[in-house]
Amino acid sequence: MMSIRSLAGACLSAFAALSAFAAPASAQNYPTRTITMIVPFAAGGPTDVISRIVTAHMAQTLGQSIVIENVVGAGGTTATTRAARAANDGYTLITGHMGTHAASVPLYPKLAYHPEKDFEPVALLAGTPILILARKDFPPKDLKEFVAYVKANAEKVNAAHAGIGSVSHASCELLNSILDVKPVGVPFNGTGPAMNALVAGQVDYMCDQIVNAVPQINAGTIKAYAVATPERNPSLPNVPTTTEAGLPAFQAQAWNAVFAPKGTSPAIIATLNAAAIKALDDENVRKRLLELGSVIPAPANRTPEALATLVKNEIAKWTPVLKPAS
Ligand code: ASP
Repeated sequence: MMSIRSLAGACLSAFAALSAFAAPASAQNYPTRTITMIVPFAAGGPTDVISRIVTAHMAQTLGQSIVIENVVGAGGTTATTRAARAANDGYTLITGHMGTHAASVPLYPKLAYHPEKDFEPVALLAGTPILILARKDFPPKDLKEFVAYVKANAEKVNAAHAGIGSVSHASCELLNSILDVKPVGVPFNGTGPAMNALVAGQVDYMCDQIVNAVPQINAGTIKAYAVATPERNPSLPNVPTTTEAGLPAFQAQAWNAVFAPKGTSPAIIATLNAAAIKALDDENVRKRLLELGSVIPAPANRTPEALATLVKNEIAKWTPVLKPAS
């Protein structure tokens, strides 16, 4: 006959076995319903476009739909705050980027989240070189003329961006500090709408991620002065690098990546990471990302750990550039 003690022990170990089984089982079944991917900018901008291309494939892998929710405002920080506070059950994710998860840190002293402390990195989706763009009838013909013109007309020119702390804002802050100019900033809810204003000739120039610009440059509706990376981009072979065009100091490349709220289970993060990697290896997804000038992350850069390191390095890189002079 079993003693009370051994009976209790048996019950305990049965309970332990059950709960050990129960925890991974929920992660194993994940996802059982629709996942929401928050995009912190307006539809039609680079973050939205990249998210839609990659999540459409991830949804097939996961067997559940992924709904994009565009939550705009405050340079992407409104959406990112919401994502940080969402349930950490794998059903609310965010496509963050160099702005929301790095540049916003020095620019918002009261930021309601910390990119490193409040998120679990999931996967890097795409690198996005920055271009210096202008409305079609902006007078300068090339980058040298652009530099001279902007300096000579510093009081008159304006620059569109997607809100304080967005990529377009942070990268043009870098450009403007190199040129020592302070143009009037014209904020939009994303560079999708900012691009519409540029095409319509309502704003003068913009620093934008390449995916938004390739179709417009190819259609001749805007001007591209240079791409701020060491090499030309294969999607825009005629656009010179900033080094070729005479402004080597301006180097800027952004990135977009998926994050989950802190505490999301490692099993769920692994499932999502694997689905993202599978998407990045899909021929069709690759083709679409490459046509738009994105840089597909190399395998070593696709892990959650690599994304954590990127976020850390990017905060360290952008903080001295953007910290308001005290
Ligand atoms: N990535 C933003 C967008 O999709 C814009 C930005 O950060 O500049 O509109």
